[in-house]
Amino acid sequence: MIDSHCHLDAKEFESDLSEVLQRAYDQGVRKIINPSVDVNSMAATRRLSHASKALFDVKKSPLIYYCLGIHPMWVQQAKPGDLDLLKLALKQSINDPLLAGVGEIGLDGFVPGLDQAQQQTYFENQLKLALEFDLPVVMHVRRAQDSVLKNLRQYKPRSGIAHAFNGSMQQAQMFIQRNCALGFGGAMTFTRALQIRRLAQSLPLETMVLETDSPDISPSWRHPARNEPGEIAQIAQTLAILRETPVDKIVSQTGLNVVTALNIKS
Ligand SMILES: [Zn+2]
Repeated sequence: MIDSHCHLDAKEFESDLSEVLQRAYDQGVRKIINPSVDVNSMAATRRLSHASKALFDVKKSPLIYYCLGIHPMWVQQAKPGDLDLLKLALKQSINDPLLAGVGEIGLDGFVPGLDQAQQQTYFENQLKLALEFDLPVVMHVRRAQDSVLKNLRQYKPRSGIAHAFNGSMQQAQMFIQRNCALGFGGAMTFTRALQIRRLAQSLPLETMVLETDSPDISPSWRHPARNEPGEIAQIAQTLAILRETPVDKIVSQTGLNVVTALNIKS
């Protein structure tokens, strides 16, 4: 089982990350994708991945892959030169088998007060880096579907994931045409999330990946408590029920989709 989107270096996991990972492992989670959000978290996510590798080799922990990037909600705190630091970090990690892509990058039109022009500048510069290093992208797309799609049409990264997807069917199709898988997680577990549940039922399974976005987007049974990657098992169950598909098929196909979308091995 793969959790395709987590922030395990977040302060919410400071005191008990090893227990969280043990619970995830016990639930059957074997791989986790952990994108960074700013230059400080780049070093942290890389360190965490390498630490998980040592444990994974003795079969006790999920393997944590990392992505390098600057999140749209963090661009305002970014300093001049951070994009150069990102480029350097990508250069240093390009042959690292635990590097899954460039992320988390994208656009956020939901949080008030974020500078849209500045977000766009960081997004397009990071798309250019994804092209330069031939890496997939992990994207945050909130109230910004069409602007993100416009950038994808222009820069054409090889593949990626639109995480916590919350657009229309037509927008979903356009992401799929651009080799992007769509992330489904906690939001889908709320019965009132009609649009997301309709998409989860009707999109081809080959286009979907599962995620928790831990510590955020807790599923209905956990909300508003902190989310954690072990919840991916019950999120997979939710999708299995929505689609009337055996959960084994949901887990194997969505896992394969993460491998196809990102720079990781099966
Ligand atoms: Zn995220």
